[in-house]
Amino acid sequence: MPNAPMSTTRVYVPDRIRSGQALWLDGEKAHHLVRVLRVRGGDAVVLFDGHGGEYPAVVEETARQRVRLLPGLHSPRDVESPLRIRLIQGISRGERMDFVVQKATELGVRRISPVHTASSVVRLKGERAEKRGAHWDRIVQGACEQCGRNILPPVDAAADLDSVLGESFGGSRLILHTGATQSIGSLRLADPELTLLVGPEGGFTEAEIGLASRSGFVPVSLGPRILRTETAALAAIAILQSRFGDLLQPA
Ligand code: SAM
Repeated sequence: MPNAPMSTTRVYVPDRIRSGQALWLDGEKAHHLVRVLRVRGGDAVVLFDGHGGEYPAVVEETARQRVRLLPGLHSPRDVESPLRIRLIQGISRGERMDFVVQKATELGVRRISPVHTASSVVRLKGERAEKRGAHWDRIVQGACEQCGRNILPPVDAAADLDSVLGESFGGSRLILHTGATQSIGSLRLADPELTLLVGPEGGFTEAEIGLASRSGFVPVSLGPRILRTETAALAAIAILQSRFGDLLQPA
């Protein structure tokens, strides 16, 4: 089966894909494929299951709310950045956080850790936290379908900043801080592993900046203007991927 071009519809399949073994998709996925993207029997699509690589596939049958697909040979296509960024993001209001999760995925972060901070307006617990987590997972899946990534960055369960800062970190650690004297552009990285901490709408308290500094996070600035949290996260990731990752490489 020929490898499909990037404009071909890409579909994330939550179950493990096996070449030559037909699979059915139902529910929202099938609805989206049949009613929105209007795929028909014989169409070529690309499937991926998040374990690396992808499978060119053929739509065998579309029934009401169900689609049968036949995956071909595994292709190990890999578009992961050599710079492995874990984003620890202060949780912001609904659509802002969704925006960060979607765009950070497109920009190649390897892991997203949403955190509650002292100034967080949003605090997620119990069923609400689970629902929001599932919602973010779907955003990541959609972003990977769109941007061509075959490995999904995991989104951790929402946690308090101090408990996350209690973890042991490898590699470089940065905290975006509006009062930092070092510019993100003057950094040197010795390690392809990097953790980036970004504050929510209200920013960090002095105590949180102190705690992060004691955990090895270096405060860095993004210039003289105060950016919204989502702008700050994405600008920083884009700068880091340009300087140390793959954003300036040819496709
Ligand atoms: N009054 C808050 C302050 O000064 O920290 C504003 C917070 S800002 C809307 C949200 C987050 O984005 C900040 O906590 C920081 O992590 C990041 N941020 C925004 N602009 C920044 C800048 N110019 N330099 C570094 N970080 C910035």
